[in-house]
Amino acid sequence: MRGTPRLLLRRLALASSLGAGVAAGLLHRPAVCRDAGSQALSLESISSRVAALEVISRAQPAVATATGAGGGAELIDGRKIAGDIRSEVKAATDVLKQEHGITPGLAVVLVGARTDSSTYVRMKKRAAAEVGFHSVDKNFSESVSQQQLLDTVRELNADPAVHAILVQLPLPSHIDESKVLEAIDVAKDVDGFSASNIGNMCLRGGKPPLAIPCTPAGCIELLQRSGVPVKGQEVVVVGRSNIVGMPVAHLLQSMDATVTVCHSRTRDLPAHVSRADIVVAAVGAAEMIKGEWLKPGCVVIDVGVNSKPSDTDKRGYVLCGDVDFESAAQVAGKITPVPGGVGPMTIAMLMKNTLNLARHSLQLPRQPLRRQNSKY
Ligand code: NDP
Repeated sequence: MRGTPRLLLRRLALASSLGAGVAAGLLHRPAVCRDAGSQALSLESISSRVAALEVISRAQPAVATATGAGGGAELIDGRKIAGDIRSEVKAATDVLKQEHGITPGLAVVLVGARTDSSTYVRMKKRAAAEVGFHSVDKNFSESVSQQQLLDTVRELNADPAVHAILVQLPLPSHIDESKVLEAIDVAKDVDGFSASNIGNMCLRGGKPPLAIPCTPAGCIELLQRSGVPVKGQEVVVVGRSNIVGMPVAHLLQSMDATVTVCHSRTRDLPAHVSRADIVVAAVGAAEMIKGEWLKPGCVVIDVGVNSKPSDTDKRGYVLCGDVDFESAAQVAGKITPVPGGVGPMTIAMLMKNTLNLARHSLQLPRQPLRRQNSKY
């Protein structure tokens, strides 16, 4: 009997691999892989696959949503939720245009001709066009000087048609990445990584940050839109990076969860995970978190994007998360698949951040991430 839901979930996950989530998840890796552990997908292997992924990403998913099946976990459909968010951004953009006469503008700075970065940027631009944004491209050869990049960022800071600036990472080794990122006006920091935005996000009673890092914000949206209560819940976040683990832990704490952050020096990780009502996995280690570690009925948000060899897939590999999906889906109440879970949310949240920065430029309130006066 246990084989039936497991097989169903596996089929659903494989079906979801035909959707946009594949590329969205993978193609965030240029910024991610720099620090990822040894089991994470390498930049080079991503580069060789992005073209194929882009084609795959246009395919319609065979299964749009998945619900609980005979004792197995319910799938949290990131592709659908990301689509809903992009539709909302488009509707709000139309209102901004009609009522205020402005079009949100997203500028992307791309250096070099890396296939992975170029494809990722193309996907962002496609999403921006879909929601009706103005796009600005600043493309440079690998030999660009730091001064040229700094001048470009300052020029974009001063451009009233640009509300959001994204510098595609990684930059070539002769460029001081942090100096370029620090030059971005905080009011246009669409990734929300500036010290001011991160600081305001963490401060109790601080000013609302102008932007919240996209992947952590995507995790919060997945929970809220799947009806998962957060207040008072035990949450274990595995991973403490600046781009995922740390911000998602602060966001969940600000929503009144009791949060434990685990990392590579944590003793007895399974013991921590087994207490969690919600597990957020952001490790970069393929299928590390096992179903038998989980508390029955818990909610699993798997941020990881890894690859593992496959004899059956014609690409020779399949994508997987940081959670062993097959065993976890037998125990969890709800779970995000990889691909098709967190991955599609990151670009959707980039669009939402751009919209919010455009609203901020008009002194309009940003659309909040954390829902007020709700049980979530
Ligand atoms: P990092 O490599 O920057 O951080 C990994 C974290 O995991 C670190 O805090 C590290 O601990 C911790 N860790 C490593 N090994 C273990 C272990 N054995 N036990 C417990 N903790 C461990 O990765 P990122 O945060 O950038 O990314 C995490 C995952 O999320 C990756 O798979 C990445 O591909 C994916 N990702 C997906 C995105 C998407 O859009 N879907 C976007 C961003 C990331 P320590 O701090 O001690 O080193």
